[in-house]
Amino acid sequence: MPDPLPGTPVTPPVAAPRAKKRPKELAVIDQSGCTGCEVCIEFCPVDCILTVPGPDFDQHKKLVEIDLEVCIGCKLCVKYCPWETIEMIASADALSVAARWTQRSVLPQAEWIRDASGIEVVASGPLPLPGAKPG
Ligand code: SF4
Ligand code: SF4
Repeated sequence: MPDPLPGTPVTPPVAAPRAKKRPKELAVIDQSGCTGCEVCIEFCPVDCILTVPGPDFDQHKKLVEIDLEVCIGCKLCVKYCPWETIEMIASADALSVAARWTQRSVLPQAEWIRDASGIEVVASGPLPLPGAKPG
């Protein structure tokens, strides 16, 4: 390629964006065994474990949930949960398992987990893409 003329701005080459590689497994919390001790939060290297209101939205009984879009599958939370209530689930299944195991989902499908009357229903069947509204 010839040298640019003097005074011509040079545009640096732009690297093609890399596709994000998903972990083989993601961590899913079974909230029926979660005490809200928050030990797992201390160990997560990507800060993807969030506190959420517990049953009946009681702010004094917090539970935790994992943002599956951010989880890197490192298993540290599984290792250190004193109540052994976190499991590694195949990435393809993690979202539907999380929908069954969590009472108050902060995942993008939170609205979808409620039916038209606002009553929570157990998720079943294929999950919509994150952000998609129920049909
Ligand atoms: S597996 Fe690792 S990244 Fe995922 S929630 Fe647990 S500690 Fe965080
Ligand atoms: S360490 Fe286990 S019991 Fe404690 S908040 Fe996390 S998932 Fe719940």
